Amino acid sequence: MLKNNNKFYITTAILYSNAKAHIGHAYEFFLADVIARYQRLQEKDTYFLTGMDEHGLKIGRSARENNMEVQDFVDEMAEQAKELHQLLNISYNQFIRTSDKKIHWPGAQTLWKELVSSNDIYKKKYNGLYCIGCERFITEKELINNKCPEHDKEPENIEEENYFFKLSKYNDQIKNLIKSNSLIISPVSARNEILSLLESGLEDVSFSRKKESVLWGIPVPEDKTQLMYVWCDALSNYITALGYGRKNEDNFKKFWPADIQVIGKGILRFHAGLWPGMLLSAGLPLPKEILVHSYLTVNGKKISKSIGNVINPKEYIHKYGTDAVRYYLGREITPFEDGDFSKEKFIKTYNANLANGLGNLISRILKMANDYFEGSVNNNDNVLIPTKRKKEATKEKDSLESWAIPYLIDNKFIPDYHGFMEKFEINRAADVIWKLIKELDGYITDYEPYKLIRTDKEKTEVIIWNVLYGLFFVGKFLGPFMPEIAEKINNLLGVKFDTKNIPKSFKTNILEKPLFKKID
Ligand SMILES: [Zn+2]
Repeated sequence: MLKNNNKFYITTAILYSNAKAHIGHAYEFFLADVIARYQRLQEKDTYFLTGMDEHGLKIGRSARENNMEVQDFVDEMAEQAKELHQLLNISYNQFIRTSDKKIHWPGAQTLWKELVSSNDIYKKKYNGLYCIGCERFITEKELINNKCPEHDKEPENIEEENYFFKLSKYNDQIKNLIKSNSLIISPVSARNEILSLLESGLEDVSFSRKKESVLWGIPVPEDKTQLMYVWCDALSNYITALGYGRKNEDNFKKFWPADIQVIGKGILRFHAGLWPGMLLSAGLPLPKEILVHSYLTVNGKKISKSIGNVINPKEYIHKYGTDAVRYYLGREITPFEDGDFSKEKFIKTYNANLANGLGNLISRILKMANDYFEGSVNNNDNVLIPTKRKKEATKEKDSLESWAIPYLIDNKFIPDYHGFMEKFEINRAADVIWKLIKELDGYITDYEPYKLIRTDKEKTEVIIWNVLYGLFFVGKFLGPFMPEIAEKINNLLGVKFDTKNIPKSFKTNILEKPLFKKID
């Protein structure tokens, strides 16, 4: 098969189905979605995988607490997760469920057999502390006040004879691959964290559990008394989804290795330690990059049921719209530092940047275009009228033309935007969009086309054309962030959404109602 260098495979961690998704989970889907949409707009053959992790001890217990059969319980959780994806307009290609016996199980068991044939699976009696929140054995020294720091919960003591995976064997190989950036871990803070873990050495991992103690999971091949450890099963989703271990492996051959695997910082050790170890053992290529986002806090505090600050993104979407929520997540949250969500901040930034900022600019310029030129705005002679800031920039030697809107877009806004998008600093890319909006607002303030129309209709048309031209790029840049609004902007400007050519003339439409209603 021909190697497809134009492919782009992106995954999110699969959602653990023991509880409802909150705004923190929504952020991860959103971040991956922005990257996936951006890659598609760059004409990359993109495959975007997300899904649900449905095995493990915690899920069996949650089902029991809800008086439900486990399968019914995970079915319901999967429906809820899919509904959230739909409400958030997440453009995934596949939603994998680890309880899917047809899609997921064959590959998970094939991978297990590969580890066995590499002599990396052995049986051992083990006694250890197990954090059910993490679904892993945890060492004494990791505990704070006898509790798992990630879950603030005391681990359980477990003694069983299980299969183990020889992860320690791959420790140095993984370390070298990360050091040489063959496996990129972003950002640097996450890379340092995993390197220091590798420096102290990865231990072998208990890789199965007794069937009667976990009840629910994928059987270990050749041993019906044991079920696969939930992380062994869950991590393999990234390849089983593509057909690994099934009859048709075309997608696997085409898309693996993943270009980007998006995860939250709490599961770094599994993705940058265990997962590469499993792939090396099976002789499979490693993902190219693991992108580790920080946590979202709510009102400055970690999201937790006990604090009672769990925000259900569905409420905000129903009230303010999908793209308003996407705007907040895209612009106000820094992917690699903990970002905060608060209702006050949501309303404030919505009013300032959507209802005013973007919404106001669009309604003003469309009104002028329609009132003065019946929507038909041209600049056939390519007249360039620079922003008046040129006057202030006395030290600049560059020409007057270089301060015209099309030049500023070519030489400043386009490179800035793509530069940030390519580094996944999506909030900074979003800042570039609002800088452009401000530039266009300033241009209107500079030339006051609503006054100029009385004395110079020709020049007024050029001024309005420049703002529409800028708005065309605002729409283009907004594509990955706010796809519905981006499409509306294109329609309002009378250009095709997927247009490659920069329009020379606009045929604007009338704005029936404001794009964003101000929140009181
Ligand atoms: Zn834990």
